[in-house]
Amino acid sequence: MYEDDKPTHECGVFGMVAPEADVARLTFFGLYALQHRGQESSGIAVSNGRAIRAYKEMGLVSQVFNEEKLRPLVGHLAIGHTRYSTTGSSKLENAQPFVVESALGPLAVGHNGNLTNATSLRRELLNRGVGLTGTSDSEVITQMLAGGEGRTWDEKLKVFMVRAQGAYSLTVLTRDTLYAVRDPWGLHPLCLGQLNGGGWVVASESCAFGPIGGHLVRSVEPGEIVAINEDGPRTLALMPAPRIAECLFEYIYFARPDSQFHGTTLHAIRVAQGRQLAREAPAAADVVIPVPDSATPAAIGYAQESGIPYSEGLIKNRYIGRTFIQPDDHLRKVGISLKFNALPDNLNGRRVVLIDDSIVRGNTSGPIVRLLREAGASEVHIRVSSPPIKHPCFLGVDMATYPELIAYRLSTPEICAFLGADSLAYLSLDGLIQASRRDSDHFCRGCFIGQYPVEIEGVDKEVFELR
Ligand code: AMP
Repeated sequence: MYEDDKPTHECGVFGMVAPEADVARLTFFGLYALQHRGQESSGIAVSNGRAIRAYKEMGLVSQVFNEEKLRPLVGHLAIGHTRYSTTGSSKLENAQPFVVESALGPLAVGHNGNLTNATSLRRELLNRGVGLTGTSDSEVITQMLAGGEGRTWDEKLKVFMVRAQGAYSLTVLTRDTLYAVRDPWGLHPLCLGQLNGGGWVVASESCAFGPIGGHLVRSVEPGEIVAINEDGPRTLALMPAPRIAECLFEYIYFARPDSQFHGTTLHAIRVAQGRQLAREAPAAADVVIPVPDSATPAAIGYAQESGIPYSEGLIKNRYIGRTFIQPDDHLRKVGISLKFNALPDNLNGRRVVLIDDSIVRGNTSGPIVRLLREAGASEVHIRVSSPPIKHPCFLGVDMATYPELIAYRLSTPEICAFLGADSLAYLSLDGLIQASRRDSDHFCRGCFIGQYPVEIEGVDKEVFELR
């Protein structure tokens, strides 16, 4: 495995070129809309055409930045980054953007994804005498670009893309150009937008454009390098894609429902997943309720297709987010009620279909079932709008290791018993793909079938070995 404590991490990336705008402030609000993609650290780097200034810190976007922190970040090009939270790897040296000086001038990089050949690329850099401060593959990318082959940034980026394997959606800032780079598999999203007042924006998801007065123009294509300066965007290269392999988990859970993928909101796609789930796994019940908020669209779809009324049965604390205060033993036993309260009026004496988008470790669903029963539910039937997750992700979703994945260890009836539900059923992989409106060979299905679109290098066999 990589030397990082976690096999992989999730992130949001953002970038913009807007000579007339306060780019640091707009980047702040862009990152704010991408907060769901990472809550560990936040950072912004700005170029004024001569130098790059940056600020990054551990914490949520709103915790890291204030007027004082934004004020020095003056310029007309910017990138921003938000990184996923895991206790083990909460280290400032892994926070992004990475900023370095190079022979071609300053460089800043924001990365979402995971390089699968990071171990050998890292070794190569170390053998060449390049010092690395952190453990992340994103720093490897930054140093590969800064010191890599090529006389111009354009050339260096193309060389990088030939060498790198795995998942990378990048925003790269040089003195006078913003680059948006997406790996040839298209594993994680990246899209291009335009500001209504003039200027160009790049973000992991289109949900970042509306709040800053912009709109989606198009996706950055798998294998594409887009260079953007004051004259607008230009496609610098379109590297051949061995195979498109978009991450299915973005469609199920990770991306925001108001983001558009291939001209459709994920909300509509998730409603279709719920409809398909109702066709495949009906339940005799009185009410359909979601695990809020991520399973809401699928629950709406399940209710529409089954004719069983949709209602809310759980209310989630909107501000639950991340807290550094650990629960004590008593609270730990209370478990999930820190996050949710049940609504007895909607549950008492009812047979409930509980819709969840995914079961990963299996820690959340059991306490929710108990909460529903305590609120009077007479039966609880869990329906999940994705197939069982039996394999870890090595390509940019923080999924868990084999021993942690409940569907790797237990069969569906065993999981049902463990969760204390009356029944449990998952959406089939074919059904999921059909609802997601693309052909099956368009997706990375690694977490469901254990086959990945790229070779995974340096796996710790103890933890990750296949059965
Ligand atoms: P658990 O089965 O206890 O691991 O929890 C799974 C639930 O957490 C799912 O219903 C999702 O809503 C959410 N979830 C799934 N994957 C992730 C992830 N990579 N990071 C954070 N939350 C996740």
